[in-house]
Amino acid sequence: MKYYSTNRQSPELSFKEAVIKGLPLDKGLFFPERVPELPPSFFEALPDMELPELAFQVLKEFTAPDIAADQLRAICNEVFTFPIPLVKVEKGIYSLELFHGPTCAFKDVGARFMSRCLQAFATKGKPVTVLVATSGDTGSAVANGFLGVENIEVVILYPKGGVSEIQEMQFTTLGQNIRAVAVEGTFDDCQSLVKQAFSDPELAKEMQLSSANSINVARWLPQMVYYFYAWGQWKKLEHTRPAEELTISVPSGNFGNLAAGLIARKMGLPITYFIAATNRNKVVPDYLESGVYSPVPSVATIANAMDVGSPNNFPRIQEMFGNNLEAIQQVVKGFWADDEEVKAAIKETEAKDDYVLDPHGAIAYLALKKYLPALHTTGIFLETAHPAKFKQSIDEILGGDIALPEQLQAFLNRPKQSASIKNDFTMLSDLLKEQNKVNA
Ligand SMILES: *Cc1c(COP(=O)(O)O)cnc(C)c1O
Repeated sequence: MKYYSTNRQSPELSFKEAVIKGLPLDKGLFFPERVPELPPSFFEALPDMELPELAFQVLKEFTAPDIAADQLRAICNEVFTFPIPLVKVEKGIYSLELFHGPTCAFKDVGARFMSRCLQAFATKGKPVTVLVATSGDTGSAVANGFLGVENIEVVILYPKGGVSEIQEMQFTTLGQNIRAVAVEGTFDDCQSLVKQAFSDPELAKEMQLSSANSINVARWLPQMVYYFYAWGQWKKLEHTRPAEELTISVPSGNFGNLAAGLIARKMGLPITYFIAATNRNKVVPDYLESGVYSPVPSVATIANAMDVGSPNNFPRIQEMFGNNLEAIQQVVKGFWADDEEVKAAIKETEAKDDYVLDPHGAIAYLALKKYLPALHTTGIFLETAHPAKFKQSIDEILGGDIALPEQLQAFLNRPKQSASIKNDFTMLSDLLKEQNKVNA
């Protein structure tokens, strides 16, 4: 498969090149030259397929020929190991729990898949240093996804004092090939240090730098898999319904997850509607209503992994629909909720259905409550994180003491290790060079 830039000013690249580059030179996004359609026989077999086999079938054309078939099978067997249960919350509403991975958030899927791809590409050359800035969740998913992967060093920059206790533990206690660096500055400062590093000719000469942010095709595409899997499980539970009577509601920030669902639909997955569910950072719901796309600075909310004012994957969705607003509107419905509505939903669903939502999933749940009566379908909302990841908020809302799942408990008693630098590029550059010498 070849990948072109949505801005069309950069050359087409192979999967391998697109993964290593991350972003085309013209600042567009990589997009597959064609989206393969899966045959009816695939959808007949789907409900009984094991997750790794399903992943292999869905992804094989996107990664060929750079990743050989047996290699992709091995990667899928390693990546898709945790369960993704579809849980009935109330009549006609299901939760797809994407939080049973090592960091209890859906980003584990993409981060693990990308790490295995990069490893496959790195073994023959010099070691790769993955540099990533995080405001919390990306750092933990990337650190755990790349942990122990040979020939890859990971350096995570985070704002000192700017991430939650649980988040910090998830990327500062791992050791091995994971290095955490606290920056005396904000998340934006971390991000601009990363950008500077990528454009620094001296570093480029000395080491092979790569990024692992959410626009990388190797993080983006594997997210398709769980939409297929969800439909298969839903089909078993709702076998008397027509195959397409389904709406999937996606809690969205940078819109990589929703863009992956829409690619799955393009491959033939019979999902009639998607909902773009956001918090008060509602650029996309506003666009779907008014046709005007105007990114703005983000505002802080209780669903903080979705505090994005300028969603960086949205051009992929426009690309899929040929930049036609009406075409997007026919498939994608917009929804947003504020913190008070989220808190009320978490409280009510716990009382009524005995189900604890996390703040992100709660927004997608509310979106289904609004739309399902008019759409005449059943609905699945994606539960993108375990509610205990937001323990403080959840305990306040429910007046309880939510238990941490095993995966998160495991981080509690390990010593934190992190370097500390000023918001200064020379300090970062020295640290990277020194690390590179140690590994050479
Ligand atoms: C990253 C994240 C999102 C947003 O996903 P996008 O693909 O950026 O739209 C939603 N919920 C949680 C818990 C997240 O960590």
